[in-house]
Amino acid sequence: MKESVKKSFADLGLGKELLAGLSTLGYEEPTPIQIAAIPPLMEGRDLLGQAATGTGKTAAFALPILHRIGKTKAVPNKPFALVLVPTRELAVQVSEAFHTYSKGTGISVVPIYGGQEFRRQIIGLDRGAHIVVATPGRALDHLRRETLDLSALKTVILDEGDEMLDMGFAEDLELILNATPKTRQTALFSATLPPRIASIAERHLKSPERILIPRDKGTKGSVPKVRQTAYLVSRAHKIAALGRVLDLESPTLALIFCRTRLEVDELADRLVGHGYRVEALHGGMSQQERDRVMKKARGAMVDLVVATDVAARGIDIDHLTHVVNFNVPMSPESYVHRIGRTGRAGREGVAITLAEPREHRLLRNIEQLTKQKIAVETVPTPMDVKARRLDMTKAAVREQLQAGGFDEFRVVVETLSAEFDPMDIAAAAIRIAHEATEGEASNDDDVHIPTYEKSGPKNFSNDRPQRGGWTPGAWTPERAARKGDRPAGDRSGGGDARGADPRDMVRIYIAGGARMGIRPADLVGAIANEADVNPRGIGDIEVAESFSIVELPSADVDRVIKALRVATIRGRRVKVHLDKGIRK
Ligand code: AMP
Repeated sequence: MKESVKKSFADLGLGKELLAGLSTLGYEEPTPIQIAAIPPLMEGRDLLGQAATGTGKTAAFALPILHRIGKTKAVPNKPFALVLVPTRELAVQVSEAFHTYSKGTGISVVPIYGGQEFRRQIIGLDRGAHIVVATPGRALDHLRRETLDLSALKTVILDEGDEMLDMGFAEDLELILNATPKTRQTALFSATLPPRIASIAERHLKSPERILIPRDKGTKGSVPKVRQTAYLVSRAHKIAALGRVLDLESPTLALIFCRTRLEVDELADRLVGHGYRVEALHGGMSQQERDRVMKKARGAMVDLVVATDVAARGIDIDHLTHVVNFNVPMSPESYVHRIGRTGRAGREGVAITLAEPREHRLLRNIEQLTKQKIAVETVPTPMDVKARRLDMTKAAVREQLQAGGFDEFRVVVETLSAEFDPMDIAAAAIRIAHEATEGEASNDDDVHIPTYEKSGPKNFSNDRPQRGGWTPGAWTPERAARKGDRPAGDRSGGGDARGADPRDMVRIYIAGGARMGIRPADLVGAIANEADVNPRGIGDIEVAESFSIVELPSADVDRVIKALRVATIRGRRVKVHLDKGIRK
């Protein structure tokens, strides 16, 4: 499965309707397994594919089936395609994938699995389904009851073959395959190829196209030295987990890879809400828009670039500290390409991968290719993040102490010493420094993110010292400033005595104040014009020397933050984020 020859879905010969559907889904290019499997399957050939979940294999077999069915009418109880899967979850997932890819084509899919009433499944089959996605046991039950007839079958897919065998379905598979026409097309997908799978392939596949992951072809030497970490996290908790990991890592600039355009847009939006300066980059954007993003990234005006592989191809930014895989890449080669973007110019690079528990196999394939370990860690808790931030503050203070040259501040200490204990003075100063580097409180702080044991422990390294890798140098004054440069005494304290109901009103912090010539009217104007918010809804406005605080209806706040981040106030760009101390 080579990455080098880039092919589009259209190159694979898929019809217009399917292509339009894929484009709507935000898929930009086929994955390696799709490039390798779609053409032979469309020709009607048999296939043996070594592919785990997360490689895009469902589309690899679903698209050719849909293409081949075309406009053919469904016949009651006699499907054209049967997909056998080991579990009911997978039956639902695969039939949903068929639904998604077949939108607007009139092709029908019915899932049948144990635990669901027969009646419902029988109605579905009677109505005439083009495709049946089934667990083997239940498929056999329907065959015995004669509510399923496989005599018109054109294609059988055995998905997750090794798992089906592990679950004791070997005999059922034989019985089902024997009830299908000899002329059928058969494809067998399996993450591993033990002898029992080879024997099924031997008996049931006719001179199949073989798509195998090459063994022992390590790319040692060409894999850059970067710290590689993976977190096992369910899809539902991915964004919350990523927020924490980013807070912990404090990247100067991270390139975050997503699978689709839609995912890029959604993730970029959510990360803006976490207080980061985020730009999206995908194939749906014009060259001009992409150039603008790259310029900002090179000029250190962004913290995070969220991108698809296609859009990020060829990106080369020196100060890229982190590459984040929001999903495990569809091929180990793609992983290597991605992480090669960081760790340039002698700097330490960090590669972070979020993997769904089912995708652990893909990590193992990557380790085999790169001959390097990927440390699997648990998602940091809010406490971990806090502790790391304190470490960062400590290191920054230590740096200052070593550098010296703070005579002008000694006067302040001396004056305060007349009144307070020097230890307290130091602690108070450190609190101010610390709070200035602190990110915004996140809604996700309260989210419980379940941890997963890494399954398949053999190949995972356990040997990383601790969650290490952070170096004091990671703290930068720019970042401190970015996270809020509120001077001493300017914290708004706990209480909110600002009039409007605090549950409805939220405050935003704008890193510009009277010193920049900003007046309350400028803020009202910017908010009303740039974010299209009714000025009457704006609450209290406080313009201090170096910053301003504006109270807004919570419903408007995200829009305002987004708009002000790209707007200018008194001719200048200013940093804007939620005012943490007030958030209720
Ligand atoms: P699978 O390996 O079939 O479980 O697919 C894993 C995920 O990748 C699914 O969420 C698919 O929607 C997504 N996917 C499959 N093919 C592509 C593609 N060519 N581009 C982007 N995402 C894809």
